[in-house]
Amino acid sequence: MRMTAKNTTPKQRIELGSIPEPMSGCWLWEGRTFVDGYGSLKWGGKRRNFYAHRFSWEAHKGAIPDNLCMLHECDNPACVNPEHLFLGDRLANNRDRDAKGRKVQVRGSGHGMAKLTEDQARTIQASKLSGPELTRLYGISKAQVSAIRTGKAWTHLIGDDNEAIRSISFEFSKI
Ligand SMILES: [Zn+2]
Repeated sequence: MRMTAKNTTPKQRIELGSIPEPMSGCWLWEGRTFVDGYGSLKWGGKRRNFYAHRFSWEAHKGAIPDNLCMLHECDNPACVNPEHLFLGDRLANNRDRDAKGRKVQVRGSGHGMAKLTEDQARTIQASKLSGPELTRLYGISKAQVSAIRTGKAWTHLIGDDNEAIRSISFEFSKI
């Protein structure tokens, strides 16, 4: 990840975008989140979204090796506190995710996806972003964005659209 300084440093960007939660010590990301619950932020003037937790790690601790994943000790995907993050290999990532019961999101089981997408649908319906921006941000197809916006039964679309499920799994595999 390349970070280019503008008005704020990467550390300040994380500080500005999150609020500390005194009980857990989590830094809760207040900005947008990806469909998988991880915080999303834009940086460097390019229209590119970064995972906020990965960005935070790099801002505080340095580059993430290509072959390693970023895991949450606190099991809160929206948390960007670098002290709650640790590096693990892909296998550890899968084990960790399974142990924490989040596997259902990756496999895109009907129920899990539908629930996840219900929140997402509400956000999309309320969003002022353009169709292509939403497509990029949520990793879903244009048809899904427009179906959600026009209030069609999106659960059907999700169930039938394996492409969307694959792309969400793909995003997971990069975490
Ligand atoms: Zn945390």
